[in-house]
Amino acid sequence: LSAAENLKGRGLEPENIAEAAAFLGSDESKLQGKVALITGGASGIGEATAKLFTRYGAKVIIADIQDDRGQALCKELGSTTISYVHCDVTKEYDVKNAVDFAVSEHGKLDIMFNNAGIIPPLLYSSIFDSEKSHFEKVFDVNVFGGFLGAKHAARVMVPAKSGSIIFTASAATVIGLEGPPAYTCSKHAVVGLTNHLCMELGKDGIRVNCISPFLVQTPMVDAALRSAANKNQAAEWQAAAANLKGVILKPDDIAEAAAFLGSDESKYVSGLNLVVDGGYSKVNPLITNVIKGSYT
Ligand code: NAD
Repeated sequence: LSAAENLKGRGLEPENIAEAAAFLGSDESKLQGKVALITGGASGIGEATAKLFTRYGAKVIIADIQDDRGQALCKELGSTTISYVHCDVTKEYDVKNAVDFAVSEHGKLDIMFNNAGIIPPLLYSSIFDSEKSHFEKVFDVNVFGGFLGAKHAARVMVPAKSGSIIFTASAATVIGLEGPPAYTCSKHAVVGLTNHLCMELGKDGIRVNCISPFLVQTPMVDAALRSAANKNQAAEWQAAAANLKGVILKPDDIAEAAAFLGSDESKYVSGLNLVVDGGYSKVNPLITNVIKGSYT
């Protein structure tokens, strides 16, 4: 078994399956003693993750370009275990500096959450409205930013023979969504990076996974919708389109998924695209809606 496994130095135990089952059925997760760097941590999903990780006992570094917002969040949490560093993920110097800051402050880096991302205005949802410049801008943050984050995290994780690298991808990686093609393509590239790094870094005991959320109301989504022809709120769209009714996906739910992937509860999970979409990608309600006359 140990000769065949990709992730070296662990050994799958029955308890690991029990922990995975516990994650799927409850909200328990612990990050005591872990050091986590969260890009895009000043807002939305990253902000919720910074709060949750802090609550679960992790030392958190928020890396973002929204300095005021990031610093205000640290002040709000009032914890000595959370700090902010300015980091534009498209600039290698900034990413290197953020990782080095984590190590100099806390002596190590256990969790790298490459979460910073942008979406072009939904007006550019057609290939005919899309420009090369949209692809370049989106890939710069979503793909190259993630690549730089993973590269510098691996630089300090490989000698430690341990670490968890997590990306935020999107449900657009598993189903055709009506989003801008530049965004969909960028998130597919993130899954590709996850798969590659799972293979390359397994021998060093490093796990690499991504999370693919369905629509979550965050400042990014609000801004994208404001520029769309349809001014419906994200929450209304989400509720109408969702497969899983009676619950609205929140940034906190994605933070819980990140906590699971960052914690030892998932110590044998690597190469996973953890789709958090209430089963949306598994169903196609279109024909049902047509039959019911509710499709417009
Ligand atoms: P958000 O706008 O609230 O947060 C994104 C954060 O990334 C912001 O704080 C922003 O300042 C930061 N950021 C942007 N460019 C950056 C750069 N160059 N360097 C560093 N930080 C930068 O949006 P969100 O919805 O929380 O998005 C977080 C991630 O989740 C993104 O990768 C997004 O693509 C992904 N996602 C979001 C949804 C959704 O419905 N909200 C769904 C699927 C995936």
